[in-house]
Amino acid sequence: MADDLVTTARPHQEEWPAGLDVQDLLAQGWRPTPFLQFILKVHSRCNLACDYCYMYEMADQGWRRQPRRMARPIVDKVAERIAEHARAHGRSRVDVILHGGEPLLAGADHLRYVAAALHKTCDPDVHVSLRLQTNGVLIDDAFLDLFEEEGIRVGVSVDGAEADHDRHRRRANGRGTHAEVRAGLERLNGRRLLSGLLATIDLESDPVTTYEALLEFDPPGVDLLLPHGTWDAPPPGLTGEGTPYGDWLVAVFDRWYGAPVRETDIRLFTEIIRLVLGSHSRTETIGLSPAAMAVVETDGSIEQVDTLKAVAEGAAATPFHTLTHSFAEALYSPGIVARQIGLRALSGTCTACPLVRVCGGGLYTHRYRSGTGFRNPSVYCADLARLITHVHRTVAADVARVREEAI
Ligand code: SF4
Repeated sequence: MADDLVTTARPHQEEWPAGLDVQDLLAQGWRPTPFLQFILKVHSRCNLACDYCYMYEMADQGWRRQPRRMARPIVDKVAERIAEHARAHGRSRVDVILHGGEPLLAGADHLRYVAAALHKTCDPDVHVSLRLQTNGVLIDDAFLDLFEEEGIRVGVSVDGAEADHDRHRRRANGRGTHAEVRAGLERLNGRRLLSGLLATIDLESDPVTTYEALLEFDPPGVDLLLPHGTWDAPPPGLTGEGTPYGDWLVAVFDRWYGAPVRETDIRLFTEIIRLVLGSHSRTETIGLSPAAMAVVETDGSIEQVDTLKAVAEGAAATPFHTLTHSFAEALYSPGIVARQIGLRALSGTCTACPLVRVCGGGLYTHRYRSGTGFRNPSVYCADLARLITHVHRTVAADVARVREEAI
């Protein structure tokens, strides 16, 4: 069965992982990790025009060909496919993230339909944990009622203090959105529906000011995102000199780790701490754990991970569609396999690196260089090394102190 499912990469992709021999991996005993997280692009357009957005401002402009909204027959099929995949792999829980574009543009009634379709096909043996990622400006009472009724936890994108946020997260007319996002966050917090904040790092923003501005919203968790970029199109401010993103993150880490009480969870730091203490990572941003996430576009096609849209036109695509293929078939696609095979996917530089077990080569998207494809260290290599070394040193000193006190 598995042999029938092995596919070749898209013809225009001649770079690694195009040559990845999935048959050989299977013969060696490797088996894919089933998908546990599904990102549903319920609406493909956005009401903002953020200048760093990988969906609309970077290499892949495929969103222009997507229907605006995921149609109800597609929703029904996607829900069936998710239930089928979970049951086939004995999973009693899946994470489903309603995403976009801006998912709230789909409207409260349509999102209620999506939630109902998922519950109808998955209940009672597969629990669907529903989340939604929004820019926060459209949140009103109708959406709050929907979130409460359907048990949807909500993540909001906000970049910190007002001036820093408004430098990038703007309307098409240039108007900043911080005041609207703040109002949305206050509404969410009034009903305890906020799951976390997602902030993209800007070197122009002071790191500690940014962290403390995010804390004002009392988030259970914060994701600090490195801006997307590759060796061909490096992120802003990355010149090959110094470690500006590493230094920025170290400043936030010291403020966060040194607080007398745990103010929030910063996932990147928590995962690095888990890894330096010998555990495994629970995100593909860092570490060697297999990525278990699939994306479904509004037309029902299955994609790898949407950050690949920063790399090239079609880089995130697979030949699979939920109307005609199961998610299990996509599991054998070279691009998805490459994100599941840990060390075997990495460059010689990374496999020889003393930090590899913690770093894992960084986010897959950030490894891209034309010619060699995704078999390179991260474009953030030096910055990741700076952060990981600092976290390791700090945690090791704490562990040694606790040991000494215990003797
Ligand atoms: S990206 Fe750099 S720090 Fe990370 S494993 Fe590769 S060589 Fe090491």
